[in-house]
Amino acid sequence: MFLKRLSRNYLVGKDPRAPLFYREQGNKKFQEKEYMGATVFYSKGVSHSRPNTEDISLCYANRSAALFRLGQYEACLKDITRAQVHGYPERLQHKMMLRKAECLVTLGRLQEASQAISDLEGSFTARPTLATPQSQVLQKSLSRLKMKLQEKENLIETPPAVLSTACEEDMGLRERSEQIPSASSSVRLCTDPLKGRYLVATEDILPGQLLVREDAFVSVLNPGELPPLHHGLESEWDTRVTNGDLYCHRCLKRTLATVPCGGCSYAKYCSQECLQQAWHLYHSIECSVGGLLLTLGVFCHVALRSTLLARFEESGQVLKKLCGKIGNKDICLPESKNPMKKFPYDLGGESGENDKSIETPIPGCDTNGKYENNYNAVFNLLPHTENHSPEHKFVCALSVSALCKQLEESSMVEESSLQAPTTGLKSSKLEAAETPALCAELDIWGVAMLRHMLQLQCNAQAITTIQQTGSEERIVTDSRQVRLATAVFPVTSLLNHSCSPNTSVTFISTVACVRASQKIGKGQEILHCYGPHESRMAVAKRQQKLRSQYFFDCTCPACQNEKHRIGTGPRWEGFCCNRCRTPLQGSNVLSCGNTPCMESVRRDHLDSRLQDLQQQIGMAQKLLRKGQLEQAVPLLLGCQREAERFLCEEHTVMGEVEDNLAQAYAAAGDWQKSAAHLQKSLRVVELRHGPSSIEMGHELFKLAQVFFNGFAITEALSTIQKAEKVLLIHCGPWDDEIQELQKMKSCLLDLSPIPGGPSM
Ligand SMILES: [Zn+2]
Ligand SMILES: [Zn+2]
Ligand SMILES: [Zn+2]
Ligand SMILES: [Zn+2]
Repeated sequence: MFLKRLSRNYLVGKDPRAPLFYREQGNKKFQEKEYMGATVFYSKGVSHSRPNTEDISLCYANRSAALFRLGQYEACLKDITRAQVHGYPERLQHKMMLRKAECLVTLGRLQEASQAISDLEGSFTARPTLATPQSQVLQKSLSRLKMKLQEKENLIETPPAVLSTACEEDMGLRERSEQIPSASSSVRLCTDPLKGRYLVATEDILPGQLLVREDAFVSVLNPGELPPLHHGLESEWDTRVTNGDLYCHRCLKRTLATVPCGGCSYAKYCSQECLQQAWHLYHSIECSVGGLLLTLGVFCHVALRSTLLARFEESGQVLKKLCGKIGNKDICLPESKNPMKKFPYDLGGESGENDKSIETPIPGCDTNGKYENNYNAVFNLLPHTENHSPEHKFVCALSVSALCKQLEESSMVEESSLQAPTTGLKSSKLEAAETPALCAELDIWGVAMLRHMLQLQCNAQAITTIQQTGSEERIVTDSRQVRLATAVFPVTSLLNHSCSPNTSVTFISTVACVRASQKIGKGQEILHCYGPHESRMAVAKRQQKLRSQYFFDCTCPACQNEKHRIGTGPRWEGFCCNRCRTPLQGSNVLSCGNTPCMESVRRDHLDSRLQDLQQQIGMAQKLLRKGQLEQAVPLLLGCQREAERFLCEEHTVMGEVEDNLAQAYAAAGDWQKSAAHLQKSLRVVELRHGPSSIEMGHELFKLAQVFFNGFAITEALSTIQKAEKVLLIHCGPWDDEIQELQKMKSCLLDLSPIPGGPSM
């Protein structure tokens, strides 16, 4: 009852009064020329509309107008078709058809465009009664468009430049490992009693080399950081924009033109294909329990979806087989007592000369010793049952049983229903009633879900993305990493942790790419960072975090080295001497490291000084956002002077001040000053994260933008080269920033005079 009450705070159904509200909100934004905001509101309207209603067609039509203004012509055309499919009213057709023709002309699809134009003309002549002023405006636009079409037709048609079609191939692995198909042949799976399973290099690996490329077995979009809206506050409907409004709930692609599920208002997709896939794979069952899933949290959702996906492997028998062998009750037993470990694995096939280790069965592998991205591998990830607190285990069990109870109630548990989502859910409910042995199946699901819940604390991987912050029109973009989804990657999960890892992980939609971030010698272990990185967290904090979340004591080289220096704190939080700028040392009272100087200060004094400074910076940032540069710049310059008096040169706040100054000058159009400050901030980042770190790559990208906008061609080109080199190692050639850098480069090369070339 309590959970049900909580679930009601999430509006997951379709509210028939909402489409009108959101459409009006969208229209308001549209009038203010805020087309992005308008699009999101129309999308919200769409997700609350029933299929084949005037509501849904009007929302799609209005969204097509906003997309048109944003220059997203392909998406605009799709929305026009959607509006028509759902019965767009006849009386409004002309305006939308004109928009369609305009899109087609702009896109250079001239044949279709002239067809659309003649259709429109036909409908005008067919109904000559349309002599209203409005139709006269339309007629005028039509003849303008015809001229534009003719102009385009007269131009010699150049085929659009074809971007390399090798894209997909290049993104793949050069040579696949036979043992782990989602990994490169440069790595091998090993196991030993102390480390468990881990990956090692079978040959020398170069920085930037792709080691693992795997699609998530399961992923669930994080709904966003916002709490549910309590009814009665502000307006009844949520006007906030979250990740759930901007990314496809299946493939995680960013899109402004979402298509909603026909049965609920919270699941939205980038396309009809994603919608149908999601429905087929899991959403037909999740749809009715959306509120509860949002209440219970994303781990519970991942656990449910994993078991739903298991139905599709080996005709849905995997789970039953796994559970059948050990009996339901033992599925969550601690590893030491788990009979799962003693499965007889028949490891035939060729084994290498030094493959002794493989003779003992490796959990998660199939009978041929192959480790694949499948349910068997996911099932065999460690649940660490003996390490979790009783409270945690209780909450997990309670969540799973509540979910099972509601699934039973909505009697939606059935073998995959191939029901088309747009036709609603009624008929699938009927089918469910005919499905026998419903409860027996649910038992197995529940136990498996509980196992997954326990696994997730150590094995869930956050899919992150770089999101541009600040307003759209800002020329130098700032970015931050956001958590987009929670996922399980069975191969990436094999990597052990290091606070100074030798790999970098990036994501393309739901695919994880693990690249070597430095040279890795043959036989060395492949390591990645679970979060607590040596350049982001002090050693004591890291140790505590790894112990409480992952249940181990980190003995990585970074931790070993830093242990001797415990008490001094990380370099990027250090203070320096007021008089001679030597770093200060000590705990409660800090003294100058330069012996003749004798200066000493109390820590709480420095802490409060830092607090004041951060407050000032916060104020300056607010002014910056509002575009009040005249006030922001002097305030920031004051902060800079104050920071230099007592903070170490690699202190994070020093970099922050310089970065804000760079932003302020860029906004004012003073590229030279902007670049100078950005270079200072770059030095702070370099000292902290190292010259070839991903953080450095992002900073260099920003600097390249500044030089580019200031037409400093030589500086821009050399910075682009540096940025490319760093980003390639971590993100590979198809990264957005790399693509952007290449565009800038080709633009600059067109501009710069070729030395010694013919002058024309
Ligand atoms: Zn999608
Ligand atoms: Zn739904
Ligand atoms: Zn460590
Ligand atoms: Zn001193």
